[in-house]
Amino acid sequence: MIRFLDLQKINAQYAAELKKAAADVIDSGWYLLGDRVKKFETKLASYIGVNHAIGVANGLDALRLILKAFIELGYMKEGDEIIVPANTYIATILAITDNRLTPVLVEPDINTYNLDISLLESHITSRTRAILVVHLYGQICWSEELESIAKQHNLKIIEDNAQAIGAEWNTRKSGSLGDAAGFSFYPGKNLGALGDAGAVTTNDDTLATVVRSIANYGSNQKYHNQYQGLNSRLDEMQAAFLYIKLSHLDAENQARREIANYYCNHITNQNIIIPTASQPCRGFKPPKGLNDPLQPCRGFKPPKGLNDGLNNVWHLFVILTKTRDQLQNHLTQNNIQTHIHYPIPPHKQQAYKHWNHLSYPITEQIHNQCLSLPISPVMTMEEVALVCKAVNEFDDSGLS
Ligand SMILES: *Cc1c(COP(=O)(O)O)cnc(C)c1O
Repeated sequence: MIRFLDLQKINAQYAAELKKAAADVIDSGWYLLGDRVKKFETKLASYIGVNHAIGVANGLDALRLILKAFIELGYMKEGDEIIVPANTYIATILAITDNRLTPVLVEPDINTYNLDISLLESHITSRTRAILVVHLYGQICWSEELESIAKQHNLKIIEDNAQAIGAEWNTRKSGSLGDAAGFSFYPGKNLGALGDAGAVTTNDDTLATVVRSIANYGSNQKYHNQYQGLNSRLDEMQAAFLYIKLSHLDAENQARREIANYYCNHITNQNIIIPTASQPCRGFKPPKGLNDPLQPCRGFKPPKGLNDGLNNVWHLFVILTKTRDQLQNHLTQNNIQTHIHYPIPPHKQQAYKHWNHLSYPITEQIHNQCLSLPISPVMTMEEVALVCKAVNEFDDSGLS
């Protein structure tokens, strides 16, 4: 069986270090708001290239806390609009509605699966306060145009960086590009804890102080509560694990890139659309005859000295095909585990009944046609080749 993501094998690589760290935390007698969280926060801030990292309980809370802090600071209030991609994972939307803000859903670009920046301006109103970009599937959603639109309309940019830790846009890391970013360390994310965990990053000193306070009952000083806060803290055990695993993140992301690269170069089934890199690297010149700046990764060879795909850490490798369910069955029969990210878009969820009648055709196409191939950083290249072979052998000519 080729597992979609083999967490046991991933963590087994670091088992000795992780077990020692756990024993140290147990023996320390100190489990919350301690030195291990501080050490991890410092290491994360320096890795991302920001002034502040604040450990919190999970990725959903990271986003909720950023919005709550902006509300406390008077940048936005109940009913204000937040622009967000329509095809994101539900947590992004939940963070907005939990704060009684209004999500304004915008279609993604079918090539990158990320927010279509060319549609932004037509969705901005007098109540728009922020753009919540999602670096979906590990690929950065960013451009100079996005920065200038936000500046022109005085909007905050918040990054949902749950899926893209380690990705770079022109040498700047995701999580350092906007006004604030939310991270998830859910076990299956590229930097996974051994339980729930998350973080907020920002360069804004005031915002950092307020987020830290709200995450701790709205209190900076014990028994003095400045805000109606939450209890959303990263614990010492998870911080100790994450401190260790952060040192290995770049190597794991590199392994993911190699797998993705192999898929891109070896999946030849013409009924399958493979993912596209959203940003040519700095200085990238398209090969002769190709002038599309959206350089498909199929057959793509980066110019010498340039690393391809630094804007993508391949949290997921998502293909599109009209006969998705049949392909998934075919792969299951070949002992290859796949998943669908995601089967139902937010606007079709029961939780958002008032949106169910709305139509977002590109979002719906992605949800109907997407399939995520295995991309465990511990996969062997033999396994990757077997996946390609099975995908290429899939014949949907008799299907509609
Ligand atoms: C995982 C994820 C979240 C939520 O993170 P949790 O730690 O599971 O709460 C938010 N947004 C996106 C895009 C995610 O993938």
